Amino acid sequence: MNMKKNKKNQILVAGTMAFDEIITKSANSGRVIGGAATYISYSASFFTSNIYISSIIGNDFPLKFLDEMNSKGILTEMIEISNEKKSFFWRGEYKNDFNTRVTHDTQLNALELYKPKLKEGLNKFKLVMLGNLDPGIQIDILSQIENDDKFVILDTMNYWIENFWDTLKEVINNSDLISINDEESEMITGEKDLEKAAEILHSMGPKFVIIKKAEDGAELFNFENKFKSYAFKVAKVVDPTGAGDCFIGGIAGYLTQSEEITFDTIKSAIAYGTAIASYNVENMGTKNLLNLSMDDIKIRTNKLN
Ligand code: AMP
Repeated sequence: MNMKKNKKNQILVAGTMAFDEIITKSANSGRVIGGAATYISYSASFFTSNIYISSIIGNDFPLKFLDEMNSKGILTEMIEISNEKKSFFWRGEYKNDFNTRVTHDTQLNALELYKPKLKEGLNKFKLVMLGNLDPGIQIDILSQIENDDKFVILDTMNYWIENFWDTLKEVINNSDLISINDEESEMITGEKDLEKAAEILHSMGPKFVIIKKAEDGAELFNFENKFKSYAFKVAKVVDPTGAGDCFIGGIAGYLTQSEEITFDTIKSAIAYGTAIASYNVENMGTKNLLNLSMDDIKIRTNKLN
């Protein structure tokens, strides 16, 4: 890849690249490729072909998959490959008609060794998407970015909130937009009321807060405004894994095309993130993302607006 590539629409995505095993009432996926960075970057790739991933994979990860990512404009040159360890592994089960997700196993594996090192010339990103990952790694990545005007988007989940709260607080403090679900927001703020929770989250750093409510959509807050978005109702959910990542990945991708990031641009971005997430849940793992087109996405985005 040409390192002197135009910086326009450039984005750094950090997050896990993983093997997942997904169990639903009617299916078991076996080992499939997943991970936060995988879903986020596929989703963002509908808007930009200038996506750099910072992540680590293990010795078991099929390199063919990286070629497939490259073909979508996802640049994999900063992904580290561990010779010693396997890839991050997550096994989760959906119960009660997909309303409950139980994590049976999280194996950090190669992630435990990861010391991110942004490449020379690739440390001035204007848009940084910190997907689900060890907050220690997230903060390390942020510290390497030399751009005072960067816009930082953060996604995290219960595992990191429970086990790494002090570091995560620091990452939140350095973020401009946080995207979490209602349970995670309650874990952090102790508030069930979303407006009050958003106020607390604002006081911790981020100007913009998105609280996701699964099939009930999501709410966006800044200090003055709030906006409720609705989910796109699909005929049949097959696997909700990665829905949150596709949602925020679509938002991040859309924002690479915006001159300025405002409440209104994030509002428009949400419709795209919602549409991509809705296609993703209709098939197992990342399957639907591989064949989706912008025309498909626009059909659902238009119905949401
Ligand atoms: P989502 O359904 O949007 O929460 O994303 C699910 C994806 O996140 C799966 O592909 C997992 O590999 C990945 N994942 C699960 N647990 C973690 C974790 N603790 N940290 C980072 N990624 C995770």
